[in-house]
Amino acid sequence: MSVNLLDFDAEGLVAWFAANGEKPFRARQVLRWMHRSGVADFDAMTDIARSLRDKLKAMAVVLPPTVISDRLSDDGTRKFLLDVGGGNAVESVFIPEDERGTLCISTQAGCALDCAFCSTGKQGFNRNLSVSEIVGQLWQANRALGIMHGDERIISNVVMMGMGEPLANFENTVSALRLMLDDHAYGLSRRRVTVSTSGLVPAMDRLRDECPVALAVSLHAPNDSLRDQLVPINQKYPLRELMAACRRYLEKAPRDFVTFEYTMLDGVNDSLAHARELLLLVRDVPCKFNLIPFNPFPGTTFKSSGRDRIRAFSDVLMQAGIVTTTRKTRGDDIDAACGQLAGQVKDRSRRTATFSVHFQDVKL
Ligand code: SAH
Ligand code: SF4
Repeated sequence: MSVNLLDFDAEGLVAWFAANGEKPFRARQVLRWMHRSGVADFDAMTDIARSLRDKLKAMAVVLPPTVISDRLSDDGTRKFLLDVGGGNAVESVFIPEDERGTLCISTQAGCALDCAFCSTGKQGFNRNLSVSEIVGQLWQANRALGIMHGDERIISNVVMMGMGEPLANFENTVSALRLMLDDHAYGLSRRRVTVSTSGLVPAMDRLRDECPVALAVSLHAPNDSLRDQLVPINQKYPLRELMAACRRYLEKAPRDFVTFEYTMLDGVNDSLAHARELLLLVRDVPCKFNLIPFNPFPGTTFKSSGRDRIRAFSDVLMQAGIVTTTRKTRGDDIDAACGQLAGQVKDRSRRTATFSVHFQDVKL
């Protein structure tokens, strides 16, 4: 079977070339063709000798996941559904803003962590995405945005906030991150690539040591008893340990703060008392807060906090000197908002998915 060269980071590609008797600089040339120029056809790699091109054609492919659908929202948000085989599909979302263009990508088909308010979690877990499937979302978005052969950078930021828990797919996530950072591939700055985690403490330490990038942590509750219910992984890594891991991460992080994500759930975690409790919790962790109005999906009983309640909550944090933003809901006409990414997942875990959402069928 052919090897998919999109599954290698730079080091892996050099090693594969070496194993096949080829020099490191050849690997870097191919890396640039694949990732910087978006070329999948070896014959189009014009500065590679014909003999090497023929050899590559016989042994390898450049195969990103296929785009099944590509939908544009009224606000410019664009959502891609990608086929990852076996009846699974994952989503990525491009969000244009004035100063930057952010691509939100997925790292798993489904998610095993089952947070109470997350559509992906409710679908169950199928499998980890491969490196080519993770980085292939960037490859395909670049192509769709029409920037494959130019130098113009439309995607300036990548956030791993799509489907799945990136740190539960550690190796592939890190290889994909390395490609995003590599000057021969996507050349993004560490500060502009963000991993979002629900709090897998040992993996946060590994990320810090192996590939520190900007970090977002999904907090959603100020105390263990509430967080145990909303984010079940908290039962394994409670808040004390999570806060300590955040502090350790900051020793090597490219930014000097952690972003805490906090989904605003009406009557659940959104009182002023909760906000004040948060201040105590994070007092030793340099941080910013990003409040996310809950995005509903079929079958959920949660509701988003109202605008006034979110403002009052935000004010408590701001008055204590914590920079707090409230996420604008983008792309909700195409179900591309946070936590609504559903794709299509065949649950292979023991837990049976309570339902499975195929986004084309969903009309909220
Ligand atoms: N698994 C990672 C990254 C993906 S989710 C994590 O949990 O951090 C990205 C963010 O959206 C997380 O903070 C997640 O908790 C939040 N989220 C999930 N479902 C949501 C929903 N329905 N409405 C608003 N935010 C949601
Ligand atoms: Fe998984 Fe993140 Fe959803 Fe929790 S919020 S179920 S960790 S994708």
